[in-house]
Amino acid sequence: GDSPSSQGSRPRRLTVLSGPSGVGKSTVVAEIRRAHPEVWLSVSVTTRPPRPGETHGVQYYFVDDAGFDRLVAEGELLEWAEFAGNRYGTPRRPVEERLAAGQPVLLEIDLQGARQVRQAMPESLLVFLAPPSWEELVRRLVGRGTEPADVIERRLAAARVELAAEKEFDVTLVNTSVQDVCRELLTLMAVRP
Ligand code: 5GP
Repeated sequence: GDSPSSQGSRPRRLTVLSGPSGVGKSTVVAEIRRAHPEVWLSVSVTTRPPRPGETHGVQYYFVDDAGFDRLVAEGELLEWAEFAGNRYGTPRRPVEERLAAGQPVLLEIDLQGARQVRQAMPESLLVFLAPPSWEELVRRLVGRGTEPADVIERRLAAARVELAAEKEFDVTLVNTSVQDVCRELLTLMAVRP
């Protein structure tokens, strides 16, 4: 285990949180952002337009296609993937620096990204966030009301694929309660709840 005094000295292993769109990953991440500033949350780059309430540099760095191309070409992304028509990627440098400094680092990324992290950093902990049921996932994805019907269709199709990949992960957490998931995740990351 990691005592508080060991934080900041020993290199950490990366934790990846993945799971189907709509399962509640960003709610879990928001709760960790609120209650656990000692956990460093990677800020991804995306070509998706911001949703209401999203701030550049907090949830994402919002870039155009050319900007994303440049980051890929320069090898600045630890992993990247296309998801439902937009591209998303993890800036490499900040992740490596925080881990080396001994800070717990959490990535919230899709399945394709999780697989790339597995290849690039085999010692990473891959956590799958599962919905209590398929019906519940559909309800959440439709009920969010942030996406038009065709986008929801694409996300449901992606969710079907992602659910089938659960066994590639080290751990599965079922999202019955945000508080429970956060507690379990922090324990896995050796962070005091
Ligand atoms: P959303 O558009 O709902 O914010 O994110 C869509 C999907 O992209 C989610 O499954 C989210 O986990 C994933 N995602 C967000 N950032 C990244 C990233 O940097 N890399 C990858 N591979 N997926 C990401």
